[in-house]
Amino acid sequence: KEGIYIEIQTTLYDKNDHLIFIRDVTRLHLLEQMRKDFVANASHELKTPLTVIKGYLETLDMFKDNLPASMQRGITNMSDQSLRMEHLIDDLLLLSRLENDEKREEDQWYSVQLFIEAIEKIATPILSEQHQLSFDFAENDRIYGSYNELYSAFSNLVVNAIKYSPNGGAILVKWESSEFNGVFSVKDSGLGIDPRYIPRLTERFFRVDKGRSSSTGGTGLGLAIVKHILMHHDAKLQIRSELNRGSVFSCHFPANRVRSDSIPSATSST
Ligand code: ADP
Repeated sequence: KEGIYIEIQTTLYDKNDHLIFIRDVTRLHLLEQMRKDFVANASHELKTPLTVIKGYLETLDMFKDNLPASMQRGITNMSDQSLRMEHLIDDLLLLSRLENDEKREEDQWYSVQLFIEAIEKIATPILSEQHQLSFDFAENDRIYGSYNELYSAFSNLVVNAIKYSPNGGAILVKWESSEFNGVFSVKDSGLGIDPRYIPRLTERFFRVDKGRSSSTGGTGLGLAIVKHILMHHDAKLQIRSELNRGSVFSCHFPANRVRSDSIPSATSST
């Protein structure tokens, strides 16, 4: 990570001449690293006091029946908010680890079905009666990567599809593979997104509707995490959406990370 960083850019100057720009970006790089370190350290330091606060809150919660109603409400509120803060800190730490390439488990082949089963487990309790969740995938397909990271990316997309379909509707979780790629997608028929916001969705803390999103309990870091996880898997996130109609979030994996019985060339490589 040390050394000199340069950026090289070329442009056509004349018919046959090129201009080459060489820029020393070492300082920019150092500043970026300082920012990453600061976020990682701050999140880490916040975890200890929060653990203590949560511990006392749990004790208070056990005796809350003897307290006046207003204090009981206060305790419930503090517990909810400390849980929210814990999610936020965990997401910040995860993002830092992903940015710094830290402690990554080794990539392995996992069946797509494994992810689908795990997704179904976390989605079922948060679905309302108006939601219809369905799956479409080839059982024997496999994907090469980190289980925890991929699970985190896929489940983030599915939880978002449920969260941002407050009136229910169909949600389709699909895996498709071809000789060129593998695509995991989540399609909802929920709120949709104004096209001008789509390029900003993977920015940290960016939310289309701040009021609504914070009440749904998100941290605003989910899609930034998804983007980083996909980068680790040479994959790309594509977002298509229509306001008030719904959205499709799809993860495109390169062919060398996909194995399928229906693709002879891919299955032959072990
Ligand atoms: P959050 O914690 O707010 O859900 P995310 O990073 O996961 O954070 O998403 C960023 C924003 O993108 C959300 O606040 C929401 O405005 C928008 N968004 C994400 N997924 C969807 C979806 N399926 N439908 C509509 N809007 C979405």
